[in-house]
Amino acid sequence: MTDVPTTPRPAPTPLGSTVLGYPRIGRDRELKRAVEAYWAGRIDQDELRRVGASIRSETWTGLLEAGLGSVPGNTFSYYDQVLDTAVMLGAVPDRFRRLGLDPLDTYFAAARGRGDAAPLEMTKWFDTNYHYLVPELGPDTEFSLSDDKPVAEYREARALGVTTRPVVLGPVTFLLLAKRAEDAPEDFTPLSLLDRLLPVYERLLTELGEAGVEWVQLDEPAFAADRSEGDLAALRAAYDRLSAVANRPALLVAGYYGDLGPALGVLADTGVEAVAVDLVAGPSSVDDLTGLSGLRTKTVLAGVVDGRNIWRTDLDAALGACATLLGVAGSVHVSSSAPLLHVPYDVRRETRIDPTVRSWLAFAEQKVAEVVLLERALTGGTGEVAEELAGAREVLAGRSSAAGRNHQVRAQIDALRPEHRTRGDYEVRAKAQQDKLGLPPLATTTIGSFPQTDDIRRARALRRAGRLSEDEYRRRMRIEIERVIRFQEDIGLDVLVHGEPERNDMVQYFAEHLDGFAATEHGWVQSYGSRCVRPPILHGDVSRPAPITVDWSSYAQSLTDRPVKGMLTGPVTILAWSFVRDDQPLADTAAQVALALRGEVRDLEAAGLRVIQVDEPALRELLPLRAADRAAYLSWAVDAFRLATAGVSDGTQIHTHLCYSEFGDVIEAIDGLDADVTTIEAARSRMEVLADLHEIGYRRGVGPGVYDIHSPRVPAVEEVTGLVEAALAAVPGQRLWINPDCGLKTRGYPEVEPALRALVSASATARAAL
Ligand code: GLN
Ligand code: ZN
Repeated sequence: MTDVPTTPRPAPTPLGSTVLGYPRIGRDRELKRAVEAYWAGRIDQDELRRVGASIRSETWTGLLEAGLGSVPGNTFSYYDQVLDTAVMLGAVPDRFRRLGLDPLDTYFAAARGRGDAAPLEMTKWFDTNYHYLVPELGPDTEFSLSDDKPVAEYREARALGVTTRPVVLGPVTFLLLAKRAEDAPEDFTPLSLLDRLLPVYERLLTELGEAGVEWVQLDEPAFAADRSEGDLAALRAAYDRLSAVANRPALLVAGYYGDLGPALGVLADTGVEAVAVDLVAGPSSVDDLTGLSGLRTKTVLAGVVDGRNIWRTDLDAALGACATLLGVAGSVHVSSSAPLLHVPYDVRRETRIDPTVRSWLAFAEQKVAEVVLLERALTGGTGEVAEELAGAREVLAGRSSAAGRNHQVRAQIDALRPEHRTRGDYEVRAKAQQDKLGLPPLATTTIGSFPQTDDIRRARALRRAGRLSEDEYRRRMRIEIERVIRFQEDIGLDVLVHGEPERNDMVQYFAEHLDGFAATEHGWVQSYGSRCVRPPILHGDVSRPAPITVDWSSYAQSLTDRPVKGMLTGPVTILAWSFVRDDQPLADTAAQVALALRGEVRDLEAAGLRVIQVDEPALRELLPLRAADRAAYLSWAVDAFRLATAGVSDGTQIHTHLCYSEFGDVIEAIDGLDADVTTIEAARSRMEVLADLHEIGYRRGVGPGVYDIHSPRVPAVEEVTGLVEAALAAVPGQRLWINPDCGLKTRGYPEVEPALRALVSASATARAAL
């Protein structure tokens, strides 16, 4: 209830159409280049700041000219918006302040580490592929308004003639995303600092008000996930207090990546002026909103243009959703469903994508145009934009008609029966595999990739540029594969790999070889800091026109008597790291990808590969934010993996690799994959994961990583031996595999060679003692 007295203030200018955030890395990744040049000492701070300012000004003026009613501000960041928030709140851990660097270098030290000061932990931003830096808070953390970035950028835009709406991470989500500092007591929770934090937000609102800011956007995406009563009470307390600040800007609270559930009712009862809802990821919000009388006096931003995917909007459906809200809220405006941080800038530059497919796509610039158009239709009636609506309708109809359909694939999927996803009994398989492979206990292997040398990268680049013939390219890759095979034989590994020299990226490589995908030239999106990825676009039915990896893997196998492991990326990971079609359930798309991979798995088996690994490092990444949705997801995800892998005989050994060690909600799903061997990250968590596996009765092969490849440090033999012994305490030797905890492609041979020798030697020692 709003019995908190809100200061009467003049009604703000209506928001109008808007987007919740915008890409910030630069149309040609100018910021990435500038930041990396600065780190390397090639440019100075002034130059870096000039690049930042030019990206900001281009963004602001571009959004204004495109016709947005409200231009978002403060969406720029040199590295990460959560770190920006921590800096603004004066919550940078001491170990970085003590370095005595200037503010920007302190900021980068927190992001990347410096000397003994380890960087802030990085983790996934909700269910997106963006990663943020985790603030560290403790009972001693004192907040203070320590940086005026939101105000400064507002003024900077004003000077360019653009009035912006500063976007700031909200106080409750900030605390919920933070973690307990290492020296804080076990029972400390960051949310307990809310009362200490709110005065700083109050101060910020006052300063923004003084600067003339009319609207400020506070992001609270944490409420698109399940939240406790305590979290909801914190939300209520925070916005009751913030809306009571005198002479503040009008408050827009944005929740995205799903429906806000009960948080919506909480916000409706506070004195905030507007809420933004994600009607793409959380379409049920329309119903939730309908019953909320508190909204009658508020503005609702209807997030109907998908901020996370790259498809053109179904404008009629979007208008329908907005229209339903008209009777519910004081006023309704159109916006993107989420910040546009997750999509590339401009689809018009993608001249190599088939024009039909391209016509289905909308990147950030096109989405802004859609938002503007929808707002015009909403306010002026559809008559005004009839032509545009008709054009969009036609494109959409084209997309949903035959284009991209593969009837053969659909028929195959329809004909699937449970036995296509089921292998024989594990004990029988294990015996058949042992007969075929004859591996010792504590068998050693690696996860797939070997260091990508300059030679390899050069060969791939030359081929892309058309300056290397296909034959010459293959010859060079074969030389590399042979080198990697001999190297592994020399070290004494039991199950070898071909080293993946032909792969730029584990998903892009498969996308390039499967039908139904398109690659972009400029479609970069920020993954974290200066790191960008260019996700493939999965636009049609997926099929495999020809074997993909069979030549490379069978060539590798022809060079050695030891088993070589075929190496594929799993269906869920391919989906997770692509832009995926939104016109059919994800489960159906996953099944198509799985079916294509199933063909590859069988071809590898037929070519003589006795071990085949199907990587699923992203299995946990697609886990829905709300627990109620998880079982359904895991069921189709597990089904897809099994469809891909269950086509082989008992004697063929299926491995899978998962990139993390905290399984939580997915542990049973991992068992459900029914892989013969599962390799996981464990070196950093000292084998804790094995206890979890034991608990669920997992009884197949397991390879907990004994060498942390994320660090350049070479482990000593004793250290690896210690980890092997710890693992042996939980898993019998016959089922235990000894391997690094991920692929080696980012490492160099000077580290990899001694580390792998240590690994083999630790295995031999433990084997002798069995
Ligand atoms: N096979 C891949 C590699 O070794 C796995 C990478 C990953 O788990 N992310 O590089
Ligand atoms: Zn991995």
